[in-house]
Amino acid sequence: MVGTPYRIVIGLEVHVQLLTRTKLFCGCSTQFGLPPNSATCPVCTGLPGTLPVLNRRAFELALRAALALNGEIARFTKWDRKNYYYPDLPKNYQISQYDLPFSKDGWLEIDTTAGPKRIGIIRAHLEEDAGKMLHDEKGGGRDSLVDLNRTGTPLLEIVSRPEISSPDEAKAYLEEVRLLLREIGVSDCEMQEGSLRCDANINLHVAQPDGSVAATPIVEVKNLNSIRAVGRALEYEADRHYQKFLEDGKKLGEEPKETRGWDEARGMTLAQRRKEEAADYRYFPEPDLVPVVVDDAWLAQARAALGELPAQQRVRLVQQFGLSEYDAGVLTRQGRALVAYFEEIARLSGDAKAASNWVTNQVLATLNEQKIDIGSFPLSAARLAELLVEVRNSGMPAQRSREVYARMLQTGESAKEAMEALGIKVIGDADALREIVTRAVAANPKAVADFKKGKTKAADAIKGAVMRETKGMARMELVQQLVLEALAKS
Ligand SMILES: [Zn+2]
Repeated sequence: MVGTPYRIVIGLEVHVQLLTRTKLFCGCSTQFGLPPNSATCPVCTGLPGTLPVLNRRAFELALRAALALNGEIARFTKWDRKNYYYPDLPKNYQISQYDLPFSKDGWLEIDTTAGPKRIGIIRAHLEEDAGKMLHDEKGGGRDSLVDLNRTGTPLLEIVSRPEISSPDEAKAYLEEVRLLLREIGVSDCEMQEGSLRCDANINLHVAQPDGSVAATPIVEVKNLNSIRAVGRALEYEADRHYQKFLEDGKKLGEEPKETRGWDEARGMTLAQRRKEEAADYRYFPEPDLVPVVVDDAWLAQARAALGELPAQQRVRLVQQFGLSEYDAGVLTRQGRALVAYFEEIARLSGDAKAASNWVTNQVLATLNEQKIDIGSFPLSAARLAELLVEVRNSGMPAQRSREVYARMLQTGESAKEAMEALGIKVIGDADALREIVTRAVAANPKAVADFKKGKTKAADAIKGAVMRETKGMARMELVQQLVLEALAKS
């Protein structure tokens, strides 16, 4: 059995909190970090006699997301009650969408080692969030508290097809979802604050000696608080399934679906409960809300709000600026603001390749070091473009150009001012250089003799002497040209 070929099958359910000021069916604030139970009202705490009212903004953001995920938009969609009892759910049901979600059949393209891959999206629907349980706040393990601030917060649930084939692909999918939804202004996707959450379904398809394929029971892994945790948990589960399959063989196929929780500290998943099936929730249509009808105008408005999507942006950066796929990917991952910054430098300096190098190396390093985003970066695009032009015109060595950059950051000086302050004066004047070249030729008779014998490499010794004399501040092409001229004459 060892070495039995198998395939990992993963499907992801992603919940993102929409960037609305208020909750999905009431006017309570969605702001993170408010005092417990301060953002609540009779509607979201489920008091009798209250009625929900749909937050139009939430629906618009959800529409925008579904369009960006290439989903088919239903023109008629309704709400359903998902019934279950839990202390963080005072109504004892959650308003969600069951058989008529507002969007289905979308897809998202991810980058894999084998090239781009399209991951299908079964559906996207809107629902309200539950509250949050806090256990053992006082210590001693005797107290459980509930905070209902999150109750009724709008969530978009995005369910992928089981078309993800490795933990790395799962991470790539989540990164792409996060980038996309941030870029179109639908969610801030902060995993630490719970505005992007992910449950992962995984099993293995194992080839049998008789040619058939056996599938291990599907496990849903919960409590995944970072993209890294998703990768680790899925790697752990794939191994666990394989080991269990080797021990138990086909019997496994008879076990019910299981929910397991990821324990980050111990690096393992732990069994939680048997997975509920849809029938356990007794879904029925929500009688307190009217269905939503999406007309052409509303759809057109949502489409217009999309702007350029990351996938389109990557293609454009390659086509318009001649960047490599890799560089285009690095820039796009940083978001639209950084891409706009790059584009302005490329335009002002007339050199897209240099602009991309500077932005993806120096600028990104500075942003990471100072933990700021491009909006707070002290160098304007015009300032950095000026430095690029100075570097190109002067042939300034890379090391020195980085010194100028560092000084510009520190002092706010222009490239010219910083160069002057650092005593960087590039000798680009042929007459001034010619004198130095003449001296270098006279001081290196052996190199001259070697050059005359056909050892063209001997010219390097003379060029080196010139660069030493000028402290590396002479234009290399000019030195090259003048040295060859001088050698031809000598
Ligand atoms: Zn409320």
